Amino acid sequence: MAKRADTLKALRACVGGDGLYHTDESMAPFMRERRGMMVGRALAVVMPRTVEQVVALVMCAGKENLKLVPQGGNTSLVGGACPQDADTHVLVASGAMRTIQAIDEDNATLIAEAGCTLAQVHRAMAGSKLFFPMQLASAEHCQLGGMVASNAGGLSVARYGMMAEWVRGVEVVLADGRILNTLSLCCKDNSGYALTRLMCGSEGTLGMITKVALRLVGRPPPLTRVCFAVKTVQEAQALAGFLRQHGGDSLYACEYMAEAVIDTVVAYRGGVEGGRPRALVKGQGCLLVALSSLEVVQQAQEQGGQGGQGGQGWQGTVLADDGEGDDVWRLREQVHDAQRALGLACKHDVAVPLGRVATFVDRATEKVRALRGDAPIFVFGHLAEGNVHFNVGKPEAMTADEFFVWREKVREGVFDCVRALGGSFSAEHGVGRVNVSAFQRYKDGVAVDVMRAVRGALDVRGVFNPGVFETMEEPVSHKSR
Ligand SMILES: Cc1cc2nc3c(=O)[nH]c(=O)nc-3n(C[C@H](O)[C@H](O)[C@H](O)COP(=O)(O)OP(=O)(O)OC[C@H]3O[C@@H](n4cnc5c(N)ncnc54)[C@H](O)[C@@H]3O)c2cc1C
Repeated sequence: MAKRADTLKALRACVGGDGLYHTDESMAPFMRERRGMMVGRALAVVMPRTVEQVVALVMCAGKENLKLVPQGGNTSLVGGACPQDADTHVLVASGAMRTIQAIDEDNATLIAEAGCTLAQVHRAMAGSKLFFPMQLASAEHCQLGGMVASNAGGLSVARYGMMAEWVRGVEVVLADGRILNTLSLCCKDNSGYALTRLMCGSEGTLGMITKVALRLVGRPPPLTRVCFAVKTVQEAQALAGFLRQHGGDSLYACEYMAEAVIDTVVAYRGGVEGGRPRALVKGQGCLLVALSSLEVVQQAQEQGGQGGQGGQGWQGTVLADDGEGDDVWRLREQVHDAQRALGLACKHDVAVPLGRVATFVDRATEKVRALRGDAPIFVFGHLAEGNVHFNVGKPEAMTADEFFVWREKVREGVFDCVRALGGSFSAEHGVGRVNVSAFQRYKDGVAVDVMRAVRGALDVRGVFNPGVFETMEEPVSHKSR
């Protein structure tokens, strides 16, 4: 008890009394994992306001033998920001470091503290001829440090790529208390290892990111949104391939939803929001695309006949700007909530080469059906990148406890299909604590060794984020929805 009081005193000395939370009640909001997949446990939560305070925390962690778990907006879906030990883990939240320090239009760069949200950046850029192109449904909450550390993707990857493409530099407090600073206004720096990029996807294991320099870009012409009805995932894949090949830079987003997914969200919305938008044809799935030129849509309608419905070309409905387009895209964004309302599910966020999406869906469906014929399957995803969300719901007749055992077989079956097709078990969300067993089973052994070597070199004592990538212990509660 006396030891705990001393440790809290040492932490208070780093961040001040108003930056320290240590009661169950005050820590609770930080401990919730968004999908309820695990429960966080920590000695304390600290909210530093400056890089110097982060340095002090790292030095304190060394002396007191503490582990530091960085947390941004806590929106990642794999438990990477979820501490797991009530005696030694200290959650370091970046939310009090949220100043945009510079918007340099001449050099197309924005420099901000790591706790700024994505929405804050978008608002700061309103009215400028430049913009920051990342788009995530979690924009109001996810923070720049978290976006770098999880190498976020989102709705504009087809056109703009992932977060790593947009980070010019970072300021990071390393495990020995030194500050690595690669913040820069330069477009080019080829003077050695790409250390900025190393932080992308580091998931809080290589240090605490305190500032980020972002690359900005000119705004694209206004986007038009089009909804294509597709009967099968094969058809969706062919259409996505056509749009990518012929659409060039005009293709901004390309989202697939299978019929069962649309029906689920429509039922979830009920009458409240008008149920099914007109553009979504009953009995069919859809491919929602956003483009800066309609030329490729005309081509798809005229020339895409071989791959299109019944040789007639793909029929797309241009969504009006009077709210219809927003309504259809909102439906896409409601998929996660609608699924959550349905109850337990085993979720997979996987990537396969674009030309193998349909093969993957077929094979994974077969695997699941062989295990259990009555399991509901939901398929949607960012199709232009081969990123599929393949989610399997709990069969009605199965108890929750049976499901927790059964879903391990499902995960293995699905991930085996992904591996056989040359894909990745984690397309966007990362590894965190939830995907550690998949990481150990499916990640290339040499790659794991290199990651370990890098981590070990930067963090000799293992201060940062134990349990991410490596099994330190089983998460407290792994009974997820
Ligand atoms: C509705 C919804 C939609 C989403 N859509 C997408 C999507 O389309 N594409 C996508 O890729 N993701 C998506 N996500 C996941 C999530 O929003 C992103 O991964 C986001 O980038 C996480 O940012 P965060 O600030 O919430 O990070 P957190 O969840 O707080 O942390 C994520 C990881 O980064 C580490 N970390 C956080 N801050 C720092 C820091 N300052 N320094 C070092 N490490 C740090 C944490 O330890 C953890 O390992 C979605 C989430 C939600 C809830």
